Amino acid sequence: MPSRRAAIAAIAGATTLALTLTACGQSGEGGSKESKNKKDLTVGIAMPTKSSERWILDGQNMVSTLKSAGYKTTLQYGEDDVDQQVQQIEGMITQGVDALVIAAINGDALSNVLKEAHDADIPVISYDRLLLNSPYVDYYASFDNEKVGHLQGSYIVDKLGLKDGSKKGPFNIELFAGSNDDNNTQYFFKGAMKELQPYIDKKQLVVKSGQTKMTQCTTLRWDGGTAQKRMDDILTSTYSHARVDAVLSPYDGISIGILSALKSDDYGSASKPLPIVTGQDAEVASIKSIRAGQQTQTVFKDTRKLAKVASSMVDAVLKDKKPQVNDTKTYNNGKKVVPSYLLQPVSVDKTNYQKVVIDSGYHKASDLK
Ligand code: BGC
Repeated sequence: MPSRRAAIAAIAGATTLALTLTACGQSGEGGSKESKNKKDLTVGIAMPTKSSERWILDGQNMVSTLKSAGYKTTLQYGEDDVDQQVQQIEGMITQGVDALVIAAINGDALSNVLKEAHDADIPVISYDRLLLNSPYVDYYASFDNEKVGHLQGSYIVDKLGLKDGSKKGPFNIELFAGSNDDNNTQYFFKGAMKELQPYIDKKQLVVKSGQTKMTQCTTLRWDGGTAQKRMDDILTSTYSHARVDAVLSPYDGISIGILSALKSDDYGSASKPLPIVTGQDAEVASIKSIRAGQQTQTVFKDTRKLAKVASSMVDAVLKDKKPQVNDTKTYNNGKKVVPSYLLQPVSVDKTNYQKVVIDSGYHKASDLK
């Protein structure tokens, strides 16, 4: 039995950070023996970037959830620089953290540092993005990533009136995918294309640029500026005599870039309405854009719940207990199928953003001013 985990497992009277997802942000610590024993345990949290609001919230939620369960934390952001993230994780290992929670920049670039974590007997939780090609990943906390794509793709066919047959098209659509070094990208794209492909096959949806392969649609590091440039290029090369009716976008930052390109090409005027534009993460800028009738949809993934899941995994492994998982098949990282707990994403548009995103307390109404 690994010594670090065994030692912690022996903590007398330790209680488990229960995976109750209804009471996010609250935790029962209560100054018990457990919290006194845990107060010397530190969890290292490696996040990819502060350039996107969701990861800022992820970091904050992880810290507050773990702290209220009695752990110390150290949180670092790699700012989308893979080497920097490797160094940060190495630093945490040297510092002697007791567990690691990692949201990778490039899921395939951390095998060496994960081996170092293993050699130091530090359990690793893969956070939101699967860590690839390493046997040293204990558990995975994420969302049903294929469902995210399904929600985006089905929203488009529904809104265009193709699903209920009220319209036949053809409609023009362009496709965007996420970063090619993020394992989630393929799940999002696959989920969306399962919805869109039947209509592309029937020519009711037409990808006028011809760029239909995922490799033609990826956006390195999910960068909004890169997406804006690609949309600009597509509009110039393909749409001088045609109009784009829908854009599959996998992430709100990309959606905002796409919308900038569209607006520079006069979309949004009375004679040239904006196309349907999907998204993901329910970031403030995108909820504002949805409210203003620009971006059409986003996919909400409650990072408070994700932090709760990941924290309960940390808590369990440190006590040598089995965390709660609900998927033991989907996420093969190349070396092992990583036992996972997958949360459910929710489609959000102007009809339900108030209830899902504001009334739930995820964003404050004042943030949208
Ligand atoms: C996350 C998405 C996010 C994207 C860009 C993905 O790994 O699952 O929620 O939109 O990264 O940050």
